[in-house]
Amino acid sequence: MQSRWNDDEAAGFKGDLAQRVYTSRLLGRDKSLVLHGGGNTSVKLRERNLVGDEEDILYIKGSGCDLEVIEEAGFAPVRMAHLLKLAQLKAPGDPQIVNEILTHMTRAAAPAPSVEVILHALLPHKYVDHTHADAVLAVTNTEDGEARVREVYGDRVVVIPYVMPGFDLAQLCAARFPVEAGKHTIGMVLMKHGIFSFGATARESYEHMIHLVGLAEDYLARKGAWELRWQQNGISRKAIRLELAALRAKLSRTAGVPLLLATHQDARSIAFARRADVAEISQQGPATPDHVIRTKRVPAVERDIEGYAFRYREYYNAHAPYAREPKTMLDPAPRVILDPELGMCAAGRSAKEAAIVAETYLHTMDVIERATLLGGFRALSAKDIFDVEYWDIEQAKIKKDGAPPVFAGEIALVTGAASGIGKACVEALLARGAAVIALDVNPAIERLTRREDFLGITCDVSADSEVVKALENGVKAFGGLDMLVLNAGIFPGGRPIAALRHEDWRKVMQVNLDADLTLMRECHPLLKLAPKGGRMVVIGSKNVPAPGPGAAAYSASKAALTQLARVAALEWGADGIRVNVLHPDAVFDTGIWTDEVLKARAAHYGMTVEEYKRRNVLKTEVMSRDVAELAAEMCGPAFAKTTGAQVPVDGGSDRVI
Ligand code: ZN
Repeated sequence: MQSRWNDDEAAGFKGDLAQRVYTSRLLGRDKSLVLHGGGNTSVKLRERNLVGDEEDILYIKGSGCDLEVIEEAGFAPVRMAHLLKLAQLKAPGDPQIVNEILTHMTRAAAPAPSVEVILHALLPHKYVDHTHADAVLAVTNTEDGEARVREVYGDRVVVIPYVMPGFDLAQLCAARFPVEAGKHTIGMVLMKHGIFSFGATARESYEHMIHLVGLAEDYLARKGAWELRWQQNGISRKAIRLELAALRAKLSRTAGVPLLLATHQDARSIAFARRADVAEISQQGPATPDHVIRTKRVPAVERDIEGYAFRYREYYNAHAPYAREPKTMLDPAPRVILDPELGMCAAGRSAKEAAIVAETYLHTMDVIERATLLGGFRALSAKDIFDVEYWDIEQAKIKKDGAPPVFAGEIALVTGAASGIGKACVEALLARGAAVIALDVNPAIERLTRREDFLGITCDVSADSEVVKALENGVKAFGGLDMLVLNAGIFPGGRPIAALRHEDWRKVMQVNLDADLTLMRECHPLLKLAPKGGRMVVIGSKNVPAPGPGAAAYSASKAALTQLARVAALEWGADGIRVNVLHPDAVFDTGIWTDEVLKARAAHYGMTVEEYKRRNVLKTEVMSRDVAELAAEMCGPAFAKTTGAQVPVDGGSDRVI
């Protein structure tokens, strides 16, 4: 393990707290040390307060802050004197301790301190670093882990047996550390949890961490348990989207809420899922209490969700009676599924959560495989996992989280999504918490926005094979399909029927009608598996009820599409799929309407551009966003009992009303 310290970089961080920021980021950059939001660091500073008193303040990473990108403001300043007094209490409740900590900060706007704040206060060093390094966990999480840790470190570290993080752990360290620390001590190993290092400067504490983790890596290498090799097991090329959607449906049913499911078919995940002993090694539990909390339970299962839910209920019932407070049972759905064909599937209420689960499990696989090479992986006991999962503090967070966004855990697909109404639909759906698969023939779609819950795919929807490929990739990314917005369409220049060439007519029909048939046919089995029922919204046109001269192909295509949607509403109702159509008119903030075209059209009617834009009953301008908001609402609870409807969004048309 290499130190990432760089003198030039470090010189840009002036002052003790800034140095703390710098080395915290160095730790955060290495995912084998800490994952998103994991690990914590602190520095003790002496400061003069507003009334002139000097006091010692512990600056500790705020909970939820990510070490890789932390700023000074991400550290919570807590009064040391009070923390040290709290450490003397006999068995206070965790909620009380949390209250004491929050009321003894010196900056009201600071984030809540990490739960390990008392432990950091008790360690008599200016800088303290804490990680859940993979290499250390591979050594501690074995049958004879403690003996191995002593063999690796000698008197460089104090070894603490596993106890629940929080107050109990702080007290145990307070008792053990002063007795066991000697002049060579530069760290502390917490069995089945992680490692601490400390020092007088930020650099020293950081480099102690690197040194200590490096020793664990060297040990693993000596024991032939460092290099992990896996064969390039070929994955079959067959389509798996229906299997995945069915798996996600089952998982969501078990959870009681829709979950996203991200599929990872890298050689590493596939090899792990195909191990002969996968059922045994993956069922023990997480490698550190940190991974239970942040990912709401990481234990993996093979594709037997129902069996897992059953076991989970037994496990809850077996342990809940020992709990001090009544507990809210978490949903019994696992968050990682291992399957020899599918690879590793990570579930979450959002794409971000699923990504954190996947990353956590990728590291867990390393720990498990290395510990197995050392003789056998030993995770926390079921009781320990229960205690962390059902910790008062975690339970309080669950209660505080509040209502999730309306489309949390759901997936939408939008066609023609790179601009205009399609792009606005993407935004409206993302804003409501959906993950979005966005298709467009314009490759710019791939860079439309950079977020975990967005997948832009270049796709000519009039080519069947491209649609099938896009669906396959979309479902691998998110797990299925709940909402389909058919928006892609072309509007060729006006041409009277007398001059309408057959190839122009065909082109319009191909994109505006035939492509939608393909999408509907291919998406139907996926929509049928949507946990809350599938929804399809078709972007029609005012031209359907009120056609104009010169747009025969366009009007005919949209009328046929509307009729197709009406038949779908009839056919798909029994599958719980709702189909509704909206008819926009005169939406000018789209690609088709350049300033010149607008001016020409306005002049044609003897109007100014402004008058032309608002020539409707309400004299209002209809924007892409207005159409998109209605499309998203049609997928939501307000339209839960509506199907086969056609709703105008045109400011009112006297030809239709
Ligand atoms: Zn920890």
